[in-house]
Amino acid sequence: MEDYIQISKINDFVFCPYSIYLHSVYENFNAKTYHRTAQTVGKIAHRPVDGGTYTTSARVLQGMEVCCERLGIMGKIDTFDAESGLLVERKYKIKKIFDGYRYQLYAQMFCLREMGYEVKSLAIQSLADNKRYKISLPDAQETAKFEELIEAMKNYRPSPPENKNPAKCAQCVYKPLCH
Ligand code: SF4
Repeated sequence: MEDYIQISKINDFVFCPYSIYLHSVYENFNAKTYHRTAQTVGKIAHRPVDGGTYTTSARVLQGMEVCCERLGIMGKIDTFDAESGLLVERKYKIKKIFDGYRYQLYAQMFCLREMGYEVKSLAIQSLADNKRYKISLPDAQETAKFEELIEAMKNYRPSPPENKNPAKCAQCVYKPLCH
């Protein structure tokens, strides 16, 4: 069965692809933990908007499992207001909007769209200081970059980076395994 990329692993992959592999060493010695089998994809894909409608009680969807068969990705959304079309990812404290944050939101957006929802706007919420950062919907160029990233994740073969980035490595919990 085909593997699906977990949306939650996108940010780590952007940070450093090798960190995903090292994370898997801790998890269960399986280098493919950023993939997930798609046993539930069919169920997820058609669950929320059968017939293209939703009830008012389901207006704000929270923690819902989503998937996109076209891209081979799956995961969970944080909150989506199905009436306004606003998709929000909440994080404890945002110091900077990293590319990986945007890509995770794009991934959730493509899943929701394939599942029949109309996503009109994106935002990231910083809970500690109650700040909300609006994220633009991806244009054609950003969409192409995002899709290339997903392809890179699917085709990744773990190997330590040749040129390690000291600033990045200093922030990485896997440094003891890697250096
Ligand atoms: S220590 Fe550096 S090279 Fe190794 S996984 Fe972490 S960020 Fe990547």
